[in-house]
Amino acid sequence: MEAAGIIRKVAGPLVVAERMRSSNMYDVVRVSENRLIGEIIELRGDLASIQVYEETSGLTPGAPVESTGMPLSVELGPGLLKSIYDGIQRPLEAIKRVGGNRLARGVEAPSLNRETVWRFIPSAAAGDRVTGGDVIGVVQETDVVEHKIMIPPQVKGIIKSISEGDYTVDQTVAVVTGEDSDVNIALMQKWPVRRGRPYKTKLNPDVPLVTGQRVIDALFPVAKGGTAAVPGPFGSGKTVVQHQLAKWADVDIVVYIGCGERGNEMTDVLLEFPELKDPKSGKSLMERTVLIANTSDMPVAAREASVYTGITIAEYYRDMGYSVALMADSTSRWAEAMREMSGRLEEMPGEEGYPAYLGSRLAQFYERAGRVITLGTDEREGALSVIGAVSPSGGDISEPVTQATLRIVKVFWSLDSQLAYARHFPAINWLTSYSLYLDNMGGWFNSQVHSDWMKYRARIMLLLQEESELDEIVRLVGIDALSAPDRLKLEAARGIREDFLHQDAFHEVDTYTPLEKQYIMMGLALKYYDMASNALDDGADISNLVNIRAREAIGRVKYAEASETPELAEEIGRRLTQEIELIKAKQEAR
Ligand code: ADP
Repeated sequence: MEAAGIIRKVAGPLVVAERMRSSNMYDVVRVSENRLIGEIIELRGDLASIQVYEETSGLTPGAPVESTGMPLSVELGPGLLKSIYDGIQRPLEAIKRVGGNRLARGVEAPSLNRETVWRFIPSAAAGDRVTGGDVIGVVQETDVVEHKIMIPPQVKGIIKSISEGDYTVDQTVAVVTGEDSDVNIALMQKWPVRRGRPYKTKLNPDVPLVTGQRVIDALFPVAKGGTAAVPGPFGSGKTVVQHQLAKWADVDIVVYIGCGERGNEMTDVLLEFPELKDPKSGKSLMERTVLIANTSDMPVAAREASVYTGITIAEYYRDMGYSVALMADSTSRWAEAMREMSGRLEEMPGEEGYPAYLGSRLAQFYERAGRVITLGTDEREGALSVIGAVSPSGGDISEPVTQATLRIVKVFWSLDSQLAYARHFPAINWLTSYSLYLDNMGGWFNSQVHSDWMKYRARIMLLLQEESELDEIVRLVGIDALSAPDRLKLEAARGIREDFLHQDAFHEVDTYTPLEKQYIMMGLALKYYDMASNALDDGADISNLVNIRAREAIGRVKYAEASETPELAEEIGRRLTQEIELIKAKQEAR
């Protein structure tokens, strides 16, 4: 039902309107003659508090407010990929065309282009019984992605008609006879953003999202359908990590939400992302990407909408049976928008002024991640993995947003500015990062890559931890105070850091390492340590063991093609044996 209210007061992005009794919580409203887009976020009797997603300057009390009677929804259909949207799914290109370079207010532009014609190839036929989630045909959306046209979740019945042809997104491609009426199915469907799209069952997070980034896959893996957080002190390599994940992670679709960093950063992403090449197809990464952007001239309230818009689009592709990665950068900016709104609503502030519901809002968002069996009779498996960047000011992760996030997500990649300063990339600190999926996924690594995978991982982590303790001792009393076995540990750990963890995103081979090769690389680092340890026991001299030449060869394995690695590793193994034998022989001769 439509309600016509009037503005009582304006406070930044918050508009309070009266005579709003007949509207509902989270209804979309149009505010003033400019028809600014807003959402009701609080209703008290006659009064509605409205979060306005556009600049509110110039609004005055008395101006009309009209409820659309509909919750904030997104359009889902062919044409999403390659698009760049604002927080309420208006295509940036189209609004720029209408409104010039500065975003004009109240602009209505359809999210999905109404003129583009798509070839629809049916896979279902008249007479078929269908329910929500069933795929009835496909559209080749981009060169690399086939868009599955699905029966909307709430529809069920028998297909009355369906035909191949060229359609725009809002034309009827099939008619389903439901229980009481016929339903027209178009290429496009709508979904309210604050409600997670339904699925059949959630699966255990026991399959990794393989990224080809060694420190991630081997030490701190994220599950397919899992959640991870990454803080990004300036210059720590956050952008490179995100780009690497977008390019290389085992996903079909990438949804990137830019929540508006300070200054111009968002514009950088807008410029950079379309330039990224998809290594799998050789085409632009945009062929399988949707960008949601809050440019700096948009009010902060739109960040809130962008997060929900993005995750709903991501769920939609998950429903098709795809593996989707959603990246939100940065969720701290979203939290700041919540804080601002909460302050204007005069809610009781929680820690550092953030609303008390900060944690539950973040949790609701991350809970929409998961590997699922989708709706539909063919039971597709789809996954939505969520990677949220946090940007704690001053890098202080004890602040409320980071802490609330860490209570929810299962993986933390702790980007460290000191490592970045030392040019150790990816600058993911191995002592402070963690993955809570290891217990679940160890079985997968052991059965799918090698039965020793988890054992190797544990040994590598142990060496790295021991290194940090030994470093402490060295700082206090000097290296000479260390025993030979401890010095060897330091050497082995250095090898792991330099030859394994350090990975050059810009080297054509090193940029991506398949799991089998990662396993071999871990094996080589440990082999050196084991052989040298044995030699030490047999009385070999530590300084000779440190200077073994085959170690240089271990350091170069990362640049060797994966297919050549097994042979290379064997050869290095032989050289290690030879050199160590020689050291021992010399020692005995003396
Ligand atoms: P941030 O986004 O955190 O400010 P960037 O991601 O832009 O930082 O990284 C800063 C610089 O660090 C990059 O320009 C690049 O030179 C270097 N860098 C970061 N990660 C890597 C990597 N994995 N391999 C090589 N260089 C890297």
